[in-house]
Amino acid sequence: MKVTLAKSAGFCFGVKRAVDTVYQQLEKRQAKPIYTFGPIIHNEEVVHDLEEKGVTVINSIEELRQQAKGEGTVIIRAHGVEKGICEEIKSMGFEIIDATCPFVLKIHRLVERHSGEGCQIVIIGNGDHPEVKGIKSWSSAENTQVISGKEDAENYRADKEKKVCIVSQTTFNYNKFQELVEIIRKKGYDIIVLNTICNATEERQTEAAGIAAQADAMIVIGGRNSSNTQKLFEICKKECKNTYYIQTVKDLDLTSFRSVDNVGITAGASTPNKIIEEVQKNVRNEL
Ligand code: SF4
Repeated sequence: MKVTLAKSAGFCFGVKRAVDTVYQQLEKRQAKPIYTFGPIIHNEEVVHDLEEKGVTVINSIEELRQQAKGEGTVIIRAHGVEKGICEEIKSMGFEIIDATCPFVLKIHRLVERHSGEGCQIVIIGNGDHPEVKGIKSWSSAENTQVISGKEDAENYRADKEKKVCIVSQTTFNYNKFQELVEIIRKKGYDIIVLNTICNATEERQTEAAGIAAQADAMIVIGGRNSSNTQKLFEICKKECKNTYYIQTVKDLDLTSFRSVDNVGITAGASTPNKIIEEVQKNVRNEL
């Protein structure tokens, strides 16, 4: 029996780094409170586990001001915060640990630099997402716009005398990004296109498809409501009919695997390593 676990299964680099940071702080702390600025990850199990260990989720500066007394550590999530938030938290007396993903920080720097050099800024992404709000806050250009779809791109207006610098939210779909850039390009603006999409999701999907194509049975682990896990499941199912979608090891029915030689395992972006390991161990031991 061969069991192949996808290298890209579970947390991406940035999320893993942020979650590990919180656990490391828990080990180090000396009775001082620990806060995360928003839930560290969209995974209830992880957030709940951290809450049980004493980590408090804070959703705004206001909340921090009301609940905490300027003592303890505040950890910033992987997709970052708006400019000035870290300074404000520091000025309130907290220690701050910025776990913003370096790929997101890079976009902050690019937007700061290009807007400082006189460019108008376009951010392709979802304007309600905290990552995009954070990116936007680093632009000093008066004309800074978020474009989320075709209609926004078609309605885009800017000063033709100045350059337009286009960046993207890290998780935006590449083809859609290209399509929106083309709409803006055709309007005759002098554009600088910086593709700042992170390929963690695409890598995970490509690897999963490759493993599923070789496997007799494939296991996809992730929350029922996790859209990226559902997508992974669809991709694997196309390559391997015996694909199973499970949330935890409890959903694993090993009788279906008795007659197979080659099992593949992958997991969605918010699936903790602990759950992946448990499934892997179970499959290896039982079969
Ligand atoms: Fe993960 Fe990429 Fe986002 Fe960083 S930029 S948190 S690696 S998806």
